[in-house]
Amino acid sequence: MRIILLGPPGAGKGTQAISLAEEFNLPHISTGDLLRQNVKKSTQLGLRAQDFMNKGLLVPDELVTDMLAQRFKDPDIKNGFILDGFPRNIHQAKTLDNILKEANTGIDAVIYLDTSEKVIIQRLSGRLVCKNCGQNFHKTNMPPKADNLCDKCGGQLYQRQDDKEATIMARLEVYRKEVSTLIEYYEEKQKLYRILADEEAGIVLNRMLQLLKERRDSLKV
Ligand code: ADP
Ligand code: ZN
Repeated sequence: MRIILLGPPGAGKGTQAISLAEEFNLPHISTGDLLRQNVKKSTQLGLRAQDFMNKGLLVPDELVTDMLAQRFKDPDIKNGFILDGFPRNIHQAKTLDNILKEANTGIDAVIYLDTSEKVIIQRLSGRLVCKNCGQNFHKTNMPPKADNLCDKCGGQLYQRQDDKEATIMARLEVYRKEVSTLIEYYEEKQKLYRILADEEAGIVLNRMLQLLKERRDSLKV
């Protein structure tokens, strides 16, 4: 099963992707996480990407698509993947199609997490992320059991650089500019499924599982 999660920053893509990946025993591939790992290690890519990320802008396509193509060479993706944060524009969508075509495969479904602006801002401004495993928490909506420690792995939680109000607005603007073209692209291919995503994570996850169950045969779940 090859699934893309699409939606604004704060839609819960990361949280839901981790849950789906566990449920179906598939790798969770997040371009945001991969980029942050590169920044942390100060790789060439990380050094080039850092500024764009801190400003809430997209990292240039070529850097991100090369990074993803590299990740797709790992053997763990042979049964599928949950892709989160990619594609972000039509050029990336077409590059992804080409990468998958070369491997004689394609995307099964694109799940669009439909989220209101009010919820997005509330979620992002209170978000805490585990330094170690990337799990998301929220200061009030999903607080960790122990202060500033990850429930799953005990890692330290931190607030992302780009979760400050001014940067949140920039990210939303970038998102809005590109999303309608992407939605049309996948609608035309009849791959797009909309899920209402303002509610808490458990409810949204159940909606996705329900959808995937109903479509089990066509989605090769
Ligand atoms: P969010 O979806 O909440 O903005 P991500 O972790 O997916 O968070 O992305 C964080 C930042 O990483 C983005 O603002 C952007 O700078 C960069 N990034 C992630 N994925 C891509 C991508 N596919 N193309 C370009 N830049 C990306
Ligand atoms: Zn953790």
